[in-house]
Amino acid sequence: MSYSEFGLIRKFFQQEPLAFSRQFVEMGIGDDAAIISSPESKSICMSMDVLHEGVHFPASADPTSLGQRALAVNISDLAAMSAEPLCFTLGLSMPTVNEEWLRGFSAGLAELAKKYNCPLVGGDTTSGPLSIAIQVQGLVEKSEAAVRSGAKVGDFIYVTGELGNGALALQAMGINVKFADDFSPELNALSDGDLSYLNRQFYTPEPRIEFALAAATLLTSAIDISDGLTGDIGHILRASGVGAEINVERLPYGAALQKSCSREDCIAAALYGGDDYELCVTVPPSQAKELEAIAASQNLRLTKLGEITADKDFLLIHENGKREFAALQSYTHF
Ligand code: ADP
Ligand code: MG
Repeated sequence: MSYSEFGLIRKFFQQEPLAFSRQFVEMGIGDDAAIISSPESKSICMSMDVLHEGVHFPASADPTSLGQRALAVNISDLAAMSAEPLCFTLGLSMPTVNEEWLRGFSAGLAELAKKYNCPLVGGDTTSGPLSIAIQVQGLVEKSEAAVRSGAKVGDFIYVTGELGNGALALQAMGINVKFADDFSPELNALSDGDLSYLNRQFYTPEPRIEFALAAATLLTSAIDISDGLTGDIGHILRASGVGAEINVERLPYGAALQKSCSREDCIAAALYGGDDYELCVTVPPSQAKELEAIAASQNLRLTKLGEITADKDFLLIHENGKREFAALQSYTHF
């Protein structure tokens, strides 16, 4: 590594707002590797996401927003395990050293890092097409991880926030969504306010850490909605060996989606769109009231979608009572 690259790391990554000190981080950036410890009662939880320009974000993406999103989607995976963020590493490949881009990008990362007490502790920097790989680590109480295999027959299925915004945001940015060829929102119906709302939802999804930690002891399983609700619920069903019924009429949409989409497209975006980074969780009926109270105390929209069933089918229940098998289609990368 040349001196200038080392200087670059010092200047943009090894600095206080991003690489701050935190309990359990014994050594961060600067040596051959970071050193992390963990309390006896907790396990370390790790996850990684790779984002490529042109595939996961447009070339024109604002670097600060991109930094926020890159860390947010990783922290969302920790929320889906009921883990508290601990620290992260960054693998960055970029075609040239663009100081302005780096300044914005590291500021975006720093904002999320501070918010979730999750400092940058190391990484690697190489030259190549723009791509961002982040690995996060979190701490989870040994018996409380919300794994996908824990759903039980009779559990209620809930989802946080709104669904479908990710798909609509991508479409509005001119990135073709792959889940339905005939997804055709009326983009002209969206105001500047709607577009900036969608942009915020896409670039700064709010990882549901606070909710996940408060609800950890109630949940039997959890997953974050990255690839689309049906595909993601499908992971829980397969891992748990159960089925589910969800009520299509209850899907929680935002105003922009309702304004620009037919009823069918709203449903499709919510079921198959992905990129929403909300949490889908299951709880025993006896814990449902408490779960709803936690969400209410956090001013978080929480919607009961349906129930876990004994037969292994995944059914969508429509307004007229019509029952339909859910297509376990969701975003696939290949
Ligand atoms: P090595 O040669 O052992 O791979 P490097 O020279 O690549 O080490 O990195 C030097 C230090 O800078 C290491 O502590 C490494 O973790 C850190 N580092 C390199 N790139 C990044 C980055 N993009 N973000 C954070 N830390 C980084
Ligand atoms: Mg290296």
